[in-house]
Amino acid sequence: MFDAEKIRQDFPILDQVVNDEALVYLDNAATTQKPLSVLTALRDYYESDNANVHRGVHSLAERATAAYEASREKVRAFIHAKSTKEVLFTRGTTTSLNWVSKFAEQCLTKDDEILISIMEHHSNLVPWQQVANKTGATLKFVGIKNGQLDMEDLKNKLSAKTKFVSMTQVSNVLGCINPIKEIAQLAHQNGAYMVVDGAQSTPHMQIDVQDLDADFFAFSGHKMLGPTGIGVLYGKEELLNQMNPVEFGGEMIDFVYQDYSTWSELPWKFEAGTPNIAGSIGLGAAIDYLSALTMPAVEAHERQLMDYLMPKLRAIDGLTIYGPEDNANRSSVIAFNLEGLHPHDLATGLDMEGVAVRAGHHCAQPLIEVLETKVGATARASFYVYNTKADCDKFVEALLATKAFFSF
Ligand code: PMP
Repeated sequence: MFDAEKIRQDFPILDQVVNDEALVYLDNAATTQKPLSVLTALRDYYESDNANVHRGVHSLAERATAAYEASREKVRAFIHAKSTKEVLFTRGTTTSLNWVSKFAEQCLTKDDEILISIMEHHSNLVPWQQVANKTGATLKFVGIKNGQLDMEDLKNKLSAKTKFVSMTQVSNVLGCINPIKEIAQLAHQNGAYMVVDGAQSTPHMQIDVQDLDADFFAFSGHKMLGPTGIGVLYGKEELLNQMNPVEFGGEMIDFVYQDYSTWSELPWKFEAGTPNIAGSIGLGAAIDYLSALTMPAVEAHERQLMDYLMPKLRAIDGLTIYGPEDNANRSSVIAFNLEGLHPHDLATGLDMEGVAVRAGHHCAQPLIEVLETKVGATARASFYVYNTKADCDKFVEALLATKAFFSF
């Protein structure tokens, strides 16, 4: 039985009062809180095993290396990659997607096209603009329809010229779940590589990179109960073999001569310098925590919250909700605006009631433009394993109180 009340006890940070109200944390799409097991893993590592990895032969170095590589195996199993050679540790989704964009620079010419969507986070958009500028390739955008990806538009824009398709699996604004498996099939039929931004999906649903047939898949540890500064780039082994390292220096080499160097094997070829050892161990602990809950149960819990909350939100006069109508196509992200109130004032009002939500453009300015919000921003509530129906009730109450406070 999934018991969010019990889960909350593993997150001491949630047990606090903000502006004289019990905290309701609904900013999980920005970053999630960390359970005690993750905090303990970080502390244990620094208290007992701290040493640099892959270099030393002493016991601490061996223990640190074993723990670091054990985390890589946990990631492999979690996303069902074939081999740990395909799991690269990075700083997060942004770094992972920047690395893929370097591979694209290797591949593209001025006659090629890159296809992304208008809902992409800037970290899956700006690197592609850079690639297009450098190579002369054309960057195309798939639009949205009824608050989700317009698949007809995607099919129209995909052609033999398309060499990279890069899409988010879950939008950090609309909350919609994009049919990545189907998109990957279409991309491959046209001879394009499929890149997936999994920043908002990996924390909330079962990921199987082989089933999706993603060529590259990126995500961040901090959005799935892990520490900041650690993330993952999955890539198919044959592609990572073709891809040049992005950073050069220690750890990633095999031999260094005065005039040239040879690279280490996968995955270490990409991990130059001392990596975020503690971060990877913390991510491993976060994966253990989520795996014990099981991802289907995590997804079902969040779906239940959405089914409970959405009708209550839709009943509030003057509240615009962005994204798909149907909860089946929505993860646990809700962007909204209250008529006559700037989202920053709305978020401040909610904070006065102890409810933490985000307001702004959510690093998706081209999408916000298309949504015609009038104010160039929305408020956003996003949920996770420790949120309860009581949190949903408090959120609705706080919205009504804020609305009443600002009404004149
Ligand atoms: N893509 C999406 C869809 C996101 O929501 C985010 C984080 N807001 C990112 C990419 C970037 O993640 P990070 O900041 O951890 O690199």
